[in-house]
Amino acid sequence: MAEIRVEALRKNFGDFTAVKNSDFTVADGEFFVMLGPSGCGKTTTLRMIAGLELPTSGRIFLGGEDVTFNRASHRDIAFVFQLFALYPHMNVRRNMAFPLVCQGMPRQEIRTRVEETARLLRIDHILDRPVSGLAGGDRQRVALGRAIVRRPKAFMMDEPLGTLDSEFRDLMVRELRELHNSIGATTVYVTHDQVEAMAMADKIAVMNHGVIEQFGHPQEIYDRPATMFVADFIGSPPMNFLDVEDGHAVGDARVRLGGAEVAIPELREEVGAGAMVVGMRPEHVRFDDASALRGEVIGAEYLGTTQIVTVTAGTALLKARVAADVPVREGETVGLTFDTARLSLFDGASGKALA
Ligand code: ATP
Repeated sequence: MAEIRVEALRKNFGDFTAVKNSDFTVADGEFFVMLGPSGCGKTTTLRMIAGLELPTSGRIFLGGEDVTFNRASHRDIAFVFQLFALYPHMNVRRNMAFPLVCQGMPRQEIRTRVEETARLLRIDHILDRPVSGLAGGDRQRVALGRAIVRRPKAFMMDEPLGTLDSEFRDLMVRELRELHNSIGATTVYVTHDQVEAMAMADKIAVMNHGVIEQFGHPQEIYDRPATMFVADFIGSPPMNFLDVEDGHAVGDARVRLGGAEVAIPELREEVGAGAMVVGMRPEHVRFDDASALRGEVIGAEYLGTTQIVTVTAGTALLKARVAADVPVREGETVGLTFDTARLSLFDGASGKALA
């Protein structure tokens, strides 16, 4: 098992920079998720770590060893691809045994290793079945089995659940996490799905246009997003943003939002050239008749235990997540308050969070 450290990692394709100076460390045994929209550079970063793509500049360390120029086959990393590249003419047992046969491991040891791994993945009852007849979830487990049977230093997983339908996906998310808990191997997992990322990760890197906008624990990223991009990308519905309507100075603890004075955490640094933007998660918006900030209810989406209510706030629209039994009527005027301690403040021009 191994720590993965990346220093000033960069990748250009001609004039285009796909990954711009990434720095991060994944501790030994951590489940690390690279999250971001299509084309942000996740796969390219993963491929550089695995040795399938040479960086334009920067360094990659695996277990403290500089592997930047080592061939993929010399890095002891296993891949789990989206398409379950299994050998269709072989049964489950032979598919799983294949990497060990290639290593020249003795037959009896292979047998023991494959059976142990199959029990871990709960596929020991299908070991002698052909892979061609297996359902999606089982095929994915076999693909995982083939990756973990070798006990590599680290795993690379590129959208491995991408082709599964949502029901199977939820199940596999839980199984992958359980599997990780039991084998504890350092894992790099690429996805554009924030729910998947939040459910599985020890650490997340949120990427945008080749840049890591934030690296941290899932809860830290949710509670204290470093940029408006991160705040918007994580959470469903995403964070609400309201522009502050008047000037603001260091020490201010109240601003005008939606035509009313609202308490904010005290500003400890100057806002740059841009206006200030206040962000609030839908679950931190509350209805309160006494509040001076008024809004009109535009609609509500019922979700069982909660509902997402869309309200106006000045010229903006806000989403509030409130209990399903809070009575709301379309067209009615409501007072809105926010949980001051949970508000996020951003510089509107740079999009960066203000401390
Ligand atoms: P996706 O989920 O769509 O794969 P991603 O975040 O994994 O997105 P990458 O595959 O890393 O993104 O690609 C980042 C950018 O680099 C994209 O704009 C892509 O078109 C470009 N790119 C990737 N590989 C190459 C290549 N071999 N030659 C030229 N451009 C490339």
